[in-house]
Amino acid sequence: MGEFELIERYFTRPTARAVLGIGDDCALLAIAPGQQLATSTDLLVEGRHFLSTVAPERLGHKALAVNLSDLAACGARPLGFTLALALPAVDEAFLDGFSRGLFALAEAHGCELVGGDTTRGPLAIGITVYGEVPAGAALLRSGARPGDTVWVSGRLGDARLALEGFRGHVSLGEDFESLRVAMEEPQPRVALGLALRGVASAAIDVSDGLLGDLGHVLRRSGVGARIDADAVPRSARLAARPLAWQRVCTLAGGDDYELVFTAPPAAEDAVRRAGAAAGTAVTPIGRIEAEAGLRVVDARGEPLAEDWPSFDHFKS
Ligand code: ADP
Ligand code: MG
Repeated sequence: MGEFELIERYFTRPTARAVLGIGDDCALLAIAPGQQLATSTDLLVEGRHFLSTVAPERLGHKALAVNLSDLAACGARPLGFTLALALPAVDEAFLDGFSRGLFALAEAHGCELVGGDTTRGPLAIGITVYGEVPAGAALLRSGARPGDTVWVSGRLGDARLALEGFRGHVSLGEDFESLRVAMEEPQPRVALGLALRGVASAAIDVSDGLLGDLGHVLRRSGVGARIDADAVPRSARLAARPLAWQRVCTLAGGDDYELVFTAPPAAEDAVRRAGAAAGTAVTPIGRIEAEAGLRVVDARGEPLAEDWPSFDHFKS
C-alpha cells in the first residue's frame, strides 16, 4: 500500500463543519465571528510517551486525548485537527486499530481530521488541534489571584500507578488491567473546560504532575499556593497503597489529563454546577496566596518537606 492509499483508506472521512478537509494543499476551517482560534500541538514518541505494548486503538485515542485536553484547559470548543504520522512500515492491523481509536474520540467531541502528513520513520504521532473560544473568554494560566480556591477535576494518580506497574516497581495484581486504562485512555475534560468559562480565574491540564503544572499557573499569575496533599482525590485502588506512594502518584504522577483550576470563593456554587453539568467531580485542594511558592501540607496543616519533581523530558 502506498502513502496516498494509506491516507485514503485510514484517515479520510467526510467533514461536516470544515469547509475543506483532506486532499488539497491546505484545509479550510470557518471561524464564527467573535470567536478566536485556539490551537495546540502535542507530539507522542514511542518509548517516551507510550510503550510498545499499548493497543493501537488506545494509542489513537490517547494521541488525540492529550491534545483535546489542552483545548479543555483553555475552555475552547474542538473544531478539527491535523495528524502528522511517522510509521516504520505499513502495518494494517496497527493502522486499523489506531484510526478506530482516534476517530471514536474525534467523533465524540465533534473534532474533525482535516489534514496531516505521513512519512516512514520511527513511530511518532504529532497532532495539532484547533478549537474556538469567544474572544477574551479563554481560560489562561495567568488569572489566579490571592484568595482563590484551587480545584482539581476527577481523580489523580492512577496513570502513574499503572506506569510503576509496567516498570515492575509495584505489583498491581488484578487491578493492573483497569489501572492501565487510566494511563492509556485518558478522558479529556472538554465539557468541564467549556462550563468553567466565566467561572474559573485560571486553568491548566495536568500532564506532567499536579504540583509541577500548578507551578506554571503560579508563576504566570505571580502568586503562590497552599495545597492540602491529603485532599487530592484518588481512586480506592490508589488509596489502598502506602501513603508515600499515594503522594507521589497524586502530586507528581503525570499523564492524568485532569484540569487544575482556580476560582474566587464566591464562585464555589458555580464551580460545583459546572462540574455537575459536565458530569465530572470537582474537588477543592487548596488556596492561592500572595506569597510566591508552593506550600504543601497534610490534613493537619503540617508542612510536607519532600520535593515533588514534575516530569521533564531533558532531565529524565
Ligand atoms: P502535501 O505534499 O501538499 O503536504 P501530502 O501529499 O503530504 O500533501 O498529503 C495529501 C493530503 O493528505 C493533504 O491534504 C494532507 O493534509 C493529507 N494527509 C496526509 N497525511 C495525512 C494523515 N496522516 N492524516 C490526515 N491527512 C493526511
Ligand atoms: Mg505532506
